Amino acid sequence: MYRTHTCGELRLNDIGQEVTLSGWIQAIRNLGGMTFITLRDRYGLTQLVFDENTSNDLKQKVAMLGREYVIKVKGKVVERSSKNPKMPTGEIEIISSELSILNKSEIPPFTIEDDTDGGDELRMKYRYLDLRRNPVRRNLELRHKMSQEIRKFLDHAKFIEIETPYLVNSTPEGARDFLVPSRMNPGEFYALPQSPQTLKQLLMVSGFDRYFQIVKCFRDEDLRADRQPEFTQIDCEMSFVDQEDVLNMFEGLAKQLFYEIKGLNFKEDFPRINYNDAMTYYGSDKPDLRFDMRFTEITEIAKGKDFKVFDSVEYIGGMNAKNCAEYSRKQLDELTEFVQRPQVGAKGLVYVKYNIDGTFKSSVDKFYNQEDLKTWADLMHAEPGDLILILAGERNHTLNALNVLRLEMGDRLGLRDKDKFAPCWVVDFPLLEWDEEDKRFFAKHHPFTSPKIEDIALFESDPGKMRANAYDFVINGVEIGGGSIRIFNTELQHKMFEALGISKEEAQLKFGFLLNAFKFGAPPHGGIAFGLDRWCSVFGGSESIRDFIAFPKNNSGRDVMLDTPGKIDKKQLDELMLKIKE
Ligand code: ASP
Repeated sequence: MYRTHTCGELRLNDIGQEVTLSGWIQAIRNLGGMTFITLRDRYGLTQLVFDENTSNDLKQKVAMLGREYVIKVKGKVVERSSKNPKMPTGEIEIISSELSILNKSEIPPFTIEDDTDGGDELRMKYRYLDLRRNPVRRNLELRHKMSQEIRKFLDHAKFIEIETPYLVNSTPEGARDFLVPSRMNPGEFYALPQSPQTLKQLLMVSGFDRYFQIVKCFRDEDLRADRQPEFTQIDCEMSFVDQEDVLNMFEGLAKQLFYEIKGLNFKEDFPRINYNDAMTYYGSDKPDLRFDMRFTEITEIAKGKDFKVFDSVEYIGGMNAKNCAEYSRKQLDELTEFVQRPQVGAKGLVYVKYNIDGTFKSSVDKFYNQEDLKTWADLMHAEPGDLILILAGERNHTLNALNVLRLEMGDRLGLRDKDKFAPCWVVDFPLLEWDEEDKRFFAKHHPFTSPKIEDIALFESDPGKMRANAYDFVINGVEIGGGSIRIFNTELQHKMFEALGISKEEAQLKFGFLLNAFKFGAPPHGGIAFGLDRWCSVFGGSESIRDFIAFPKNNSGRDVMLDTPGKIDKKQLDELMLKIKE
């Protein structure tokens, strides 16, 4: 028998028991004839004590041990004289009488402890060792628990889990595809699914009126902290539903996850904010609602006072940073530099300090008198002690910059506490998005998204104004999921393709299978997909989804442990009828 208990299990009331433990050696300390070993397994750490005077055999074996050796130990649980309150097992230790070395280990390339000396690249190269560390292991445990709770909830709500294929053709999310050459069909390629979108819609035609799948999706996009080339969706679809039904169902799922995973009981409905308001007040379709600081536009009242910068712009607006009137020159300069960074792209920053004594001090005092500034302050609900920050320029660009500034201020003021959660729905997305470069509309969500019935007439007159039955689920400024009610009427689908500049022939070529299926009685349907990796990272309080993926890829899309992607040999290329361009 390898173990009677795990390394995280024994407590004071186990004192006196003979136990067997197996695990990895995290640390060895030798103190005058006594060797102390911290033994680790998935469940925790336990201190072992070896008294070298007990037996020669034991003494010899202990001398051979090194970090990360796998050992089995038999011994007696005793109360520790110097207890370690930081360890759950810190009140006991094992006086060890038998030791078997199950396997040796080379010296690990970094210390496998909570705080490691290993850099990112090194830990990724030896990810299997990194995964032995508590924080990383805990993240995967959280992910496991999320998946279990999701399955429980959806199963209970009569969703059925159905797998869909990975070797498919292009799906409609609009990112670049990963392609797989087909040996049996030379010169032809599969595309890996960017999502099972079309397949889940087909399942609705098949009559499975509640489907879900926890599924890998593949998108060949530029990577960043919250993006991996392969990621996991909780993909869901329902028939005979309208937007309200979908939102209610999945608000239920979200509340259950908040409760089971974070111990939070959200009794109220999640706030809903329409897309236009989200953009107007937060400059983002994924507002972080942990704090307010919404924007107020002052374009009209700020113009006409001889301040050239303001007079020539499309938009002037700002936010009220509460209790920041004491900001120093240096802090304001820092903020100005911050907004001028290319990623933020503002020309400059105008500030107005609302002093405690009721007077105003601003960077534009030359142009605006105390009364003008008071008007701005009132509009922004500012009070003495507050600081108003203002940006100006082209509308969308400035709203975007204000969004970045707002999040920065949120960070500086400690308003983005990772243990606080502010979920919301963003609804009423536009159906189409104009692309200046291609001079055509693209689907904001995807081409199967239904417009709002009352907006359908705008197809002819003003397609850009059409709103979609599309929604996103956002927590703390992170887009956790998105979905829509789908078009299930062939005529409307053709109108949509037309608006997107997709000809009948092209539509038939790309999505013929779906359009054909829709001829055989497609039910009204809609759905949503959540990013499991992102949801885990928000719940786990991390910015990076990589921390919640066992074997993630780096920003160049490489797995440095597997050393992939890699070249393939000529034989394989020939089989696939492929030639690499020089
Ligand atoms: N397939 C969509 C996506 O991946 C989600 C949905 O509409 O259900 O964004």
